[in-house]
Amino acid sequence: MTKNIPIVKEPNKVLRASAKDVDADDIRGKKIQKLITDMKVTLKNTPDGVGLAAPQVGKSLNIFIVSEEAEEIDKAEKRGWEKGHNDDGKPSFAKASEGEKKPYEKREWKYHVFINPVVKNISKKKLEGPEGCLSVPGKYGTVKRHEKITVQAIDEHGKKFIRGASRFFARVTQHELDHLQGTLFIDKAEKIIEAKPNGG
Ligand SMILES: [Zn+2]
Repeated sequence: MTKNIPIVKEPNKVLRASAKDVDADDIRGKKIQKLITDMKVTLKNTPDGVGLAAPQVGKSLNIFIVSEEAEEIDKAEKRGWEKGHNDDGKPSFAKASEGEKKPYEKREWKYHVFINPVVKNISKKKLEGPEGCLSVPGKYGTVKRHEKITVQAIDEHGKKFIRGASRFFARVTQHELDHLQGTLFIDKAEKIIEAKPNGG
């Protein structure tokens, strides 16, 4: 049975702990497979989110997932869509480029799974951008992130991979990596903006 796991909110201590690596032999085991499935279901049912780290569902393990929607957001921006953001920091698109009515078609997103991630390379260049967090509802802030990052990790099938990410996908990856260290975006944000009261 897969279920929606409640997302842990600040100031829960698990969000401040340093997460532990998953034993490579356990990745294909029932417990970790169920956790990954539950994380995917949880993120799918939380349309405001594009990434989720295991500590956010109460498990202090080095696992995070990123929705392929993050890639679509980068592609839309490349095609000339003007990127703004919602009250929760998630990108939104205001102005259409010629002939396009929507920045991208919403669909059943797949999720990239990163287990025991290790940063292999980062760009010197940083970009400033709005950011929010499912564990810190009702707030967003401006955070500087490296424009590009290369991460080595293990996928949900136990296979090692290296992935380079840039722009928004790189931002989400850095945000999720921070979760595994017990760091939240509010620790790094230059300005934190509270969304309207009772805004959820
Ligand atoms: Zn977060």
